[in-house]
Amino acid sequence: MKRKMKTPGQAAIAAVLAVCALGSSPAPASGGTHSPGAHAIDSPRAFASAGNPSPGAPKKQKNPYEVINAAAVRDPITVTPLRGGVYMLQGSGGNIGVLPGRGGAVMVDAGVAVSRRKMESALRKLGASRVRYLVNTHWHFDHTGGNRWVHEHGARIIATPNTLRDLSRSIRVVEWAHTFPPVAAAARPTVTVASQRTFTVDGRSVRLRPYGPGHTNGDLSAYVTRANVLFTGDTFWNNLYPFIDWETGGSINGMIRSANQNIAMAGTDTIVVPGHGPVGRRADLVRFRDMLVAIRDRVAGLKRRGLTMEQAVAARPTRPFDATWGQGLIGPDLFTRLVYRGV
Ligand SMILES: [Zn+2]
Repeated sequence: MKRKMKTPGQAAIAAVLAVCALGSSPAPASGGTHSPGAHAIDSPRAFASAGNPSPGAPKKQKNPYEVINAAAVRDPITVTPLRGGVYMLQGSGGNIGVLPGRGGAVMVDAGVAVSRRKMESALRKLGASRVRYLVNTHWHFDHTGGNRWVHEHGARIIATPNTLRDLSRSIRVVEWAHTFPPVAAAARPTVTVASQRTFTVDGRSVRLRPYGPGHTNGDLSAYVTRANVLFTGDTFWNNLYPFIDWETGGSINGMIRSANQNIAMAGTDTIVVPGHGPVGRRADLVRFRDMLVAIRDRVAGLKRRGLTMEQAVAARPTRPFDATWGQGLIGPDLFTRLVYRGV
């Protein structure tokens, strides 16, 4: 397993800045680099390879469920120190947060199930084999697939009541061509958070705040107060069109509301960890919100004029944004359909 890790401090700051700089570019980074932040974009590059290679020639949307699992089998787990003993792990579906501590680690999301061995190795090297709390930002498999094994490492699982409900029932996600069965009892959250609540572990506070319906109807943010690191779950995808789970209460207008909540929570120094894509800052949240609003307005205009969903897709309303946002897991056509459903 390839893994590069640095101690927090200057190297961490350099890594984050490098990630931010690379993340702001619409072009995929070149391979083979050993610059400080290079490892942090490995996973987004995996996503980048899954979508449309050229905005001028959209290709068939691949099944995100299969793409994410295949990438997790192939990719190493990369570890990026953020600040104040907070780490980001990538390579197992959605981005994962880890706060190692004497009283047991806190994790934010658990990745996909197939990465268990690689994840356990990465946690061991961080001194985080014992996990006290696992926060689920929402129910999707690329954030909760590891729930069961993380629970075996001692974790109590925390989520919103809606996430608990959605993990406890069968859900068909049409766009992923997959039906998710209820997860095992041991993989379900046992602590639910319906309004803002702060957990303190080893003197470090993590503030959990539900968003209301956005990406799903159970989204939850996790903010590490002293380190000033905000985990947004899938309410924020950095330089990628987001998935919107309309089947469990998500919508474009909800995504925009959640994006505005993220902007309100972040200061200029806040390190923002998206659900997918490289680490960002407040300015990236603003760009993401503005993109969502612009595309929402364009698609809503087409729908008002009477265009069907497929006619709206053919009109390519996302075109000016595709070079930056449309090269990843969710291609322009799928994103247009997801927006169309909610306007
Ligand atoms: Zn998601």
